[in-house]
Amino acid sequence: MNDVRQLLNNAARAPDRPPPRLLAVAKSQSAAAVAELAAAGQCAFGENYVQEAAARRTELAALDPAAAGLEWHLIGHLQSNKARDAAALFDWVQTVDREKLVAALARHRRGDQLPLNVLIQVNIDDETSKHGCAPDAIAGLARAVAAAPALRLRGLMAIPAPSPESRRRRDAFRRMRACFDELQRVHPHIDTLSMGMSEDFPLAIAEGATMVRVGRALFGARPGKAG
Ligand SMILES: *Cc1c(COP(=O)(O)O)cnc(C)c1O
Repeated sequence: MNDVRQLLNNAARAPDRPPPRLLAVAKSQSAAAVAELAAAGQCAFGENYVQEAAARRTELAALDPAAAGLEWHLIGHLQSNKARDAAALFDWVQTVDREKLVAALARHRRGDQLPLNVLIQVNIDDETSKHGCAPDAIAGLARAVAAAPALRLRGLMAIPAPSPESRRRRDAFRRMRACFDELQRVHPHIDTLSMGMSEDFPLAIAEGATMVRVGRALFGARPGKAG
């Protein structure tokens, strides 16, 4: 964890920007592994699946009562029929990419909870197999999120197409930053551009990421999976 923190703090970035936040991606990790990172001071964790998140939360609460103070981000695709559970379980949903989901999350966020933090996921490389909205749909979705009192628009998220050429990924990160800056002109309070993973977070930071999502580099290879 200290290695990743150090890399993150040392990554080249524009001098006027603070170091990005680190989101620890917990997918396929044990509750014990999460508890260990939490004990080392990590407080924001990402989950890919609503179901897995619910199970792990229960396990964690038994392991470590202090885990109740952690911040949870959904970073996996969200089906509308899971919006109710997601709205109850998470502090952030980073994968909002359609109006129907905005409406479902707004409807299900309970009044006794703080507003749900929302990032709009952008399909920046226009991959047919990927979730996320087209860049020209960002403005409309952002307006819908901003209009819902139960939701709080925080910014954008992207997973650029994997490419062995770092130039291509860098270009995608740069285009995302341009989208973010444009959106910030209309919604000045937004503060989060979530992009960059274990393989490429220094590149993402150089192009203006404010949050990086790191799994393998923090936890080691995921159990039972190659790479
Ligand atoms: C798995 C995952 C990550 C982290 O990937 P690593 O390569 O393990 O760092 C980040 N974002 C999303 C959306 C993921 O699914």
